[in-house]
Amino acid sequence: MRSRPFLLILLSHIILSTALVAQTQGSEPYDSLARQIVKEALGSNKAYEMLSDLCTNVGHRLSGSPAAAKAVQWAEKKMQELGFDNVHLEPVMVPHWVRGPFERAYVFDPSGKRENLAITALGGTIGTPKGGITAEVLEVKSFEELHKLGEKAKGKIVFFSRPMDRTLVNTFEAYGRAVDQRGAGAVEAAKVGGVAALVRSMTTRRDNVPHTGAMHYDDSVEKVPAAAVSIIGAERLSALLASGKPVRVHMEFSAQTLPDVESANVMGELRGTEKPEEVIVIGGHLDSWDKGQGANDDGAGCVQSIEALRLLKTLGLKPKRTIRAVMFMNEENGLRGGIAYAEKKRPGEKAVAAIESDMGSFQPVGFGIGDSAAYEKLLPWAPVFRFFNADHFQLGGGGADISPLAQQRVPLMDLIPEVQRYFDYHHSDNDTIEGVNERELALGAAALAIFSYIIAQEGL
Ligand SMILES: [Zn+2]
Repeated sequence: MRSRPFLLILLSHIILSTALVAQTQGSEPYDSLARQIVKEALGSNKAYEMLSDLCTNVGHRLSGSPAAAKAVQWAEKKMQELGFDNVHLEPVMVPHWVRGPFERAYVFDPSGKRENLAITALGGTIGTPKGGITAEVLEVKSFEELHKLGEKAKGKIVFFSRPMDRTLVNTFEAYGRAVDQRGAGAVEAAKVGGVAALVRSMTTRRDNVPHTGAMHYDDSVEKVPAAAVSIIGAERLSALLASGKPVRVHMEFSAQTLPDVESANVMGELRGTEKPEEVIVIGGHLDSWDKGQGANDDGAGCVQSIEALRLLKTLGLKPKRTIRAVMFMNEENGLRGGIAYAEKKRPGEKAVAAIESDMGSFQPVGFGIGDSAAYEKLLPWAPVFRFFNADHFQLGGGGADISPLAQQRVPLMDLIPEVQRYFDYHHSDNDTIEGVNERELALGAAALAIFSYIIAQEGL
């Protein structure tokens, strides 16, 4: 009686193993390469070494700033030292917005008592008038609500307090559903006579650190200043306003936009041995907001792209098609680098695919593939990534910097990491090297190396 279940288990085990062998046979040529690549990535820890260097010796690097210029030199030098092919800069004019020397805000509770409020000017905003703005606050959760209130907004600081929806598993989706308040809050506030916009920070972390990000104006609407307030500050404001009594805020900052500055996209490659004219782009953006160190956004994507090429080169893997690492400039407040890259004529060259890493340094889970034919072609290789839990391939993918290549019908893809922590750091002083796990960062670089190498060998 006891031997029969055992036999059954044994039998089913044999059947299962045979099935597994059959299933993975297709990916077999890359299985041992993938393991070597992961071993080298974890063992050398080069991605983390590079990211620490970028974060501490260059720091945050907003487009047009001296630090951004330093970052361009840093990336070029790094790729030259590693002996990549065709390392060069492609110049691009970028916006030059500056935060100014200070920013401060207070809230006056209904009794008139003053408390500090942690705010930061949004990227692209005008400054407040000299001496700041002091006005009553009107809280709304949506533009619809604001426009219903209409006249009531006149002369007020409009406080947009709709949080990122914490019930959504995908934090990028939650961000996407809340970020209209940051982008268009100033325009919508001004339309109804508001004097400024104050936006609850786009973050998943409850702390007192405000998160900046891009906002825009509309030439037909008066420009009013816009800032983000920390989560603790936003909740304090909401609590004070809940009393129904008037609550005033004072805010003051001297942000301004200066003339455009020349900067550059930085790139280097491993030249293809058989079809060098066919190019797979891997990349991230070199610029960051002027907060923290731009570690997760997007120093991580830059060093992973460099490290992917280094891993292949170190292991003596020669791709049949060219793999090019591109550090794009100005993703955060203009996308000028991404646009310039796509617009540049590259005679005789064929773009096979573009893969972006711009969702943080966390444990890779797989790839997004924004082209159904490419998805069908790549899906059978997913098992190669299974041993380090990065085998989730999904239809739909891309990234801001590579998005202008869509016009040329280049299949766009992205490295997908685990997404629960990214918005803890995003666009804030929290985004430092301390928020990066060196093993997760290395695994992301390895995933990018394996994925781009498979495309380089197999084509699409
Ligand atoms: Zn980014």
